[in-house]
Amino acid sequence: MQTHNLGYPRIGSNRELKKACEQYWSGKISLTELLSKGKNISEHNWKLQQEAGIDLIPSNDFSYYDQILDMSLTVGAIPKRYNQVALKSNNEMDLYFAMARGYQKEGLDITAMEMTKWLDTNYHYIVPEFYKNQEFKLFSNKIVNEFVSAKRLGINSKPVIIGPVSYLLLGKEKEEGFDKLDLVKRLLPVYVEILTELKAHGAEWIQFDEPFLALDINAQAKEAYQYVYVELKKKFPLLKILVATYFEGLKDNLVLAASLPVHALHIDLVRNPEQLDEVLTAIPGQLILSLGVVDGRNVWKNDFEQSLSIIKKAVAQLGSDRVLIAPSCSLLHSPCDLDLETNDKTLTPEIKQWLAFAKQKIDEVVVLKALASENPDAIALEKLEENKKATASRSTSKLIHNEQIKQRVNAITAKDATRTSPFSIRKKTQQEILQLPIFPTTTIGSFPQTPEVRSWRAQFKKGDITLAEYDTLLKKETEETIRWQEEVGIDVLVHGEFERNDMVEYFGEQLDGFTFTKNGWVQSYGSRCVKPPIIYGDVHRPNAMTVYWTEFAQSLTKSLVKGMLTGPVTILQWSFVRNDQPRPVTCNQIALAIRDEVVDLEKAGIKVIQIDEPAIREGLPLRKAAWQAYLQWAVNAFKISASGVKDGTQIHTHMCYSEFNDIIQNIADMDADVITIECSRSQMELLDAFADFKYPNDIGPGVYDIHSPRVPSKEEMVALLEKAKAVIPAEQLWVNPDCGLKTRHWPETKSALIAMVAAAKELSAKE
Ligand code: GLN
Ligand code: ZN
Repeated sequence: MQTHNLGYPRIGSNRELKKACEQYWSGKISLTELLSKGKNISEHNWKLQQEAGIDLIPSNDFSYYDQILDMSLTVGAIPKRYNQVALKSNNEMDLYFAMARGYQKEGLDITAMEMTKWLDTNYHYIVPEFYKNQEFKLFSNKIVNEFVSAKRLGINSKPVIIGPVSYLLLGKEKEEGFDKLDLVKRLLPVYVEILTELKAHGAEWIQFDEPFLALDINAQAKEAYQYVYVELKKKFPLLKILVATYFEGLKDNLVLAASLPVHALHIDLVRNPEQLDEVLTAIPGQLILSLGVVDGRNVWKNDFEQSLSIIKKAVAQLGSDRVLIAPSCSLLHSPCDLDLETNDKTLTPEIKQWLAFAKQKIDEVVVLKALASENPDAIALEKLEENKKATASRSTSKLIHNEQIKQRVNAITAKDATRTSPFSIRKKTQQEILQLPIFPTTTIGSFPQTPEVRSWRAQFKKGDITLAEYDTLLKKETEETIRWQEEVGIDVLVHGEFERNDMVEYFGEQLDGFTFTKNGWVQSYGSRCVKPPIIYGDVHRPNAMTVYWTEFAQSLTKSLVKGMLTGPVTILQWSFVRNDQPRPVTCNQIALAIRDEVVDLEKAGIKVIQIDEPAIREGLPLRKAAWQAYLQWAVNAFKISASGVKDGTQIHTHMCYSEFNDIIQNIADMDADVITIECSRSQMELLDAFADFKYPNDIGPGVYDIHSPRVPSKEEMVALLEKAKAVIPAEQLWVNPDCGLKTRHWPETKSALIAMVAAAKELSAKE
């Protein structure tokens, strides 16, 4: 039995890579320095895994930006628009970063490649671009170079390479007239070249990541899988190829996966433990099975007894020689090192004993192997005892379990998730109370978080200014924002969200059942990292969370001020979630907390309340068969949060995308009085889903893109609104930007909103 790892976090335990890249981009360090810092991280990771006792240590899991972009550079899938960068600069890295981030200097203005979410994670990869006459050729030697570097440290590493079929499926055709999978015959020779070199340098194992083997794929993709791995077997009969799947079960692709002529197959037994029996039955003669038992996507300590029962079952069937033990997926999605959490106040020792980050997960894999052997040593047995204790303490801890909350969730009825009257009646009642004009204007919530606003928060956190001083500063900023919105004539105002660091963290900090880390960073994209809160216990709202600021803002003005909340699904989706109860239960607990807040806002006299749910769509399961079950509980949780108020209180929701075609019924089921969505970048075409469906409630299609500093003209916005009006009845339309304005500066924000209000006025004049 051997252990292996599918990938280690590359940002560095103190975000060294982030800092180094950003310094390089801003010209503060040289390329040599950047490369040396990158090398330090890889070497540190290799040594750490070697010392921990991992048998097969990954290489090429390191990346300066993204592993899929690395592959595009490796196989020479470099879009033509970067030719000039390649000519100008003599190093590969400048070309690489230009592809990742765009290139705006020396008279060139070249856009970056597109970025999108890596399957169902919060990591974003750079989408390969494919053209009809796409050629591939070996362009970068990164994979081999990394292998050689590890070898110098005495490590015969297992290069991790995105498999050819998944690589193509992750990309996008940029021209009509071909299918990306048609390119497989042109792509494979480059893979053959890479493997030839790796073999020449002494590589024994290669890991091909093929996550699409665990997703819904068509017949052409299935054929491609057969073709690729049969060809590779012909060319490299002795190379040990491990095909890695994760985030889902093999399910209907099991027969295909088991038939591939490879040396080992990795399955995710955290996401889909049920597949074990089926896989054990289907797996042929020699194939080695890699058991992904340690959760690479979450922060909880492994339950050794549970993992051992899985391992023992596999060993009984296959023999220990045919079993590998591993994390469920790459540890890229885990924070680096729990040992760095030394502040007992941020993370109490009681909670800390339940957690494991990447470094600890590596140890868990090694201990599991020891425990699964015939005669586990004393140290391993001691660790098993410790592990049992931690598991037991978690299942009974008072910190986690709150009977009252559990009972309240159990007592939720359909009525709790339904507004008193249907929308048509609510709309009339709300109109009487709110007296809004046609084409009412509003914003999505946040106003610019200037360096000053951020510095106040930092000073307050450090103790350099008092709570009273901080409060005064924020009040001044809020008041100015309210006054400005009044002056411009926006109909539904917001307070600006200056007191918030982040739309999830802000709520997590005020809810029971959440904790935070000092250093639990996870890469989101490039040098960007996020530090998700950890939901460890039953969620409960001890005090009102937003009433203070909303009430303050409303006290300043006769205009309507909209209360701003983050919805239960988004809070769930952007946190590390407890694994000792089903996600929908946790989500319902959060929904009740938000519901209480909504009710409190109503009591405080707030008449319009927005519950943001930008993450509802990204929470969709990877397999379509699971969509409806998810949407059912997710939509219901939103409705629980929104349905505690009277007919006259107007509930808004906001989502930062507008690909709603396949879930429009579910969006309608949310029954928000108003939904604001992103639309301007697609020229309102994305509204068609709402139009075709005859979406009944009010809609605010974003009329300008807040992601760019560009100020749109009134005419542009009028044109967009005319387009919207052509497909959605005017009385249903709101006028607002695409998303919150916190990343913008004031000057462009002001100009854009002034033009937006003028556009709304112009349209209403025509009615
Ligand atoms: N209310 C939030 C804001 O304006 C919404 C952010 C989001 O949709 N991601 O910042
Ligand atoms: Zn948004």
